[in-house]
Amino acid sequence: LNRRLAEFGTTVFAEMSALALRTGAINLGQGFPDTDGPEEVREAAVRALRDGRGNQYPPGPGIPELRTAIAAHQQRRYGLSVDPDTEVLVTAGATEAIAASLLALVEPGDEVIALEPYYDSYAASIAMAGGTRVPVTLRPAEGRFRLDLDELRDAVTDRTRLLLINTPHNPTGTVLTREELASIAELAVERDLLVVTDEVYEHLVFDDAEHIPLASFPGMRDRTVTISSAGKTFSFTGWKVGWAIGSRELVTAVRTAKQYLTYVSAGPFQYAIAEALRLPDSYFDGFRADLRRKRDLLGDGLRAAGFEVYQPQGTYFITTDITPFGEKDAYAFCRALPERCGVVAIPNSVFYDDPDAGRSQVRFTFCKRDEILDEATSRLQRLA
Ligand code: PMP
Ligand code: GLN
Repeated sequence: LNRRLAEFGTTVFAEMSALALRTGAINLGQGFPDTDGPEEVREAAVRALRDGRGNQYPPGPGIPELRTAIAAHQQRRYGLSVDPDTEVLVTAGATEAIAASLLALVEPGDEVIALEPYYDSYAASIAMAGGTRVPVTLRPAEGRFRLDLDELRDAVTDRTRLLLINTPHNPTGTVLTREELASIAELAVERDLLVVTDEVYEHLVFDDAEHIPLASFPGMRDRTVTISSAGKTFSFTGWKVGWAIGSRELVTAVRTAKQYLTYVSAGPFQYAIAEALRLPDSYFDGFRADLRRKRDLLGDGLRAAGFEVYQPQGTYFITTDITPFGEKDAYAFCRALPERCGVVAIPNSVFYDDPDAGRSQVRFTFCKRDEILDEATSRLQRLA
């Protein structure tokens, strides 16, 4: 393994899912639903396969039907106009979109600012691009993880090339507010920075929280790559259909890198997701309502079991603190959890550069059937 990747072993998601398989524990670690997405979308994939659509290499930027549907979705949800021919790129999940964006836009030695705790592929993709990661830590205050705008401002140096933003945010579940996003946008304009914004949980927002695309703020359209994925919105994480949206210049750059990573992917599934994006609002509203209910089910269960719970406004994750159990090492806690009570979770400590910062945080996912959540929380009561 070369020096750039030396610090990256096995991703914590693979490690913890393997632990769940080995022990037979309930897996509330890796974020994947245990109920597949809409029947009509699965049918659309079967039809595409059967009709021979997408069984051979699809076009490099993605099939026109999907690019048009992605552009129409940005218009319908956010009033953003996007040219499907030049401003949309279909990728092998959001993961590839993130990697290709960083490989295309970062020069070796450039600094990339990322919100911490950060999704683990950010650190690896920055490293593969030869960049230097500069974390800005979200800290809990008044019930949610907050961005300290002064800290963000202070993190920018003459070598900063790019801000890597994620909202709704994995693992904390925080949804950046209009004010926070406006300040990020002002800073990007003032310091002439590029922005890559990971919005894969754009449809998973609860209560009064609202997802506002960073690209919609003044001065952002031409400096922002917006990334999303069908995996989260439609519960097909195995299909790996994602996309990047941005100006022609930025998307052309990202496409240049993407061509030599996978070239293309997911032919028949692209046809299916083109249909999924056109589902009526009732699908998106119903999905969100269902997850909100599950959030409360798991949140109540975790509180009853003795965890300190940070209420998420978005995503399908709940970050907790294990200090009330007299524990302070999340990694050790998660490794022992299957044996202690038959549940798997994710230690947030791996998403921080400073190992002390998130040492006592543990993340649970609630994208599971109600009976699974019930069983998991009743098992967790044994910790008390
Ligand atoms: N970004 C975030 C914040 C995520 O949580 C995930 C996890 N699925 C991804 C990107 C990757 O998305 P995909 O599965 O589409 O590659
Ligand atoms: N995004 C998923 C999570 O945060 C995991 C995806 C993966 O395993 N790479 O749980």
